[in-house]
Amino acid sequence: MALIVQKYGGTSVGNPERIREVARRVSETRAKGNQVVVVVSAMAGETNRLLALAKEVSKTPSDRESDVLVASGEQVSSALLALALQDAGVPATSFLGHQVRIATDSAFGRARIRSIDRHRLEEALAGGSVAVVAGFQGVDANDNITTLGRGGSDTTGVALAAALKADVCEIFTDVDGVYTADPRIVPHARKLDRISYDEMLELASLGAKVLQIRSVEFAKRYKVPVAVRSSFNDALGTIVVEEDQRMEDVLVSGVAHDRDQAKITLRRVEDRPGLAARVFGPIAEAGIVVDMIIQNAADDGSTDLTFTVPRVDYEKAVAIVKSREGEIGFKALTTDTDVAKVSIVGLGMKSHAGVAARMFDILSREGINIQMISTSEIKISVAVQAKYAELAVRSLHDAFIGGPTS
Ligand code: ADP
Ligand code: ASP
Ligand code: MG
Repeated sequence: MALIVQKYGGTSVGNPERIREVARRVSETRAKGNQVVVVVSAMAGETNRLLALAKEVSKTPSDRESDVLVASGEQVSSALLALALQDAGVPATSFLGHQVRIATDSAFGRARIRSIDRHRLEEALAGGSVAVVAGFQGVDANDNITTLGRGGSDTTGVALAAALKADVCEIFTDVDGVYTADPRIVPHARKLDRISYDEMLELASLGAKVLQIRSVEFAKRYKVPVAVRSSFNDALGTIVVEEDQRMEDVLVSGVAHDRDQAKITLRRVEDRPGLAARVFGPIAEAGIVVDMIIQNAADDGSTDLTFTVPRVDYEKAVAIVKSREGEIGFKALTTDTDVAKVSIVGLGMKSHAGVAARMFDILSREGINIQMISTSEIKISVAVQAKYAELAVRSLHDAFIGGPTS
């Protein structure tokens, strides 16, 4: 008998028919003799609808109340799935984050899981029930409801699989698996049978939202086998596993893009030690992740400092920099939200030279100007004007991985 955690995303539980279909799948998995814990997202569109509602009653909704509000989406879907299972004759019990006791820190809207008390779930399983857990939500040390950031139900799924030592965590979504690029942008992208934790980490952090990055971090740390599958068919999907020698033969295994970026430039900052720390220290303290950074020193002892932040944190980052204007001392601050980040990822880059040069050449042939560059051992990212993101993804995909006919 295996213990299987299955997570179903928003589209997979998007309407009553879909929820009945999920109940059918869960009941089939159980009928094969497995114990099943199910994690559900809110019904498709619901989280966005709730966030928009908050904006209708408040110009700046507070983080705590926003979490109380958006967590309700998963409460609805977990109860509906438990009802559908019961209706199909399968004993099922729903659990909210605080009932399982998914304990998190207090960073509302982006909380991190600290611990999970598996006992209630184990009790439900021992009693023959399917446990249906509301994804995306937890509870902090003061009993406040918290949420784990957009796409956070993936993380609930993998974290539960780690805590329960499940045999596998299956992530059911609206695509057949992890593709070499977002199949909505590159229709001829190929499904990968396997991908390493490290490549998946890069793809997730570079914009491939098929898995939330923190879910991949959990999977890697606790060695949870993750399978990404479609809830619309029975295809095998993609498994995320530890790398092996064969994977290193592939130069580029995926292309990702992220339109939710913003660029901030401080012009003519004095070029002296400690300056960067003064700029980036307060930004980091606010929990904002700075991604790409370039600094161009001029002959006159000044420098231009440009960096990117996630679009959601952009206003906050600008406010922080402006509030420190006296301390930092810049001549002008310019911003640009019309940027996108396009990246190639592959384990093979570790041992092959010239990949960056080839990437830049491909982009230049399309007339795409590169604004910023950042690299790691297994990825190269460039910032480009947003309108070129799709063209960049397609041309890089076709050159490194293959076009429609190759
Ligand atoms: P869910 O609601 O099931 O969590 P998401 O919308 O969060 O689903 O994630 C699935 C989507 O991720 C797909 O519909 C696809 O458009 C997008 N996506 C982006 N990059 C990739 C990729 N490399 N492989 C598969 N899907 C991708
Ligand atoms: N409902 C949340 C969101 O839309 C969490 C999730 O779907 O994973 O981001
Ligand atoms: Mg998702």
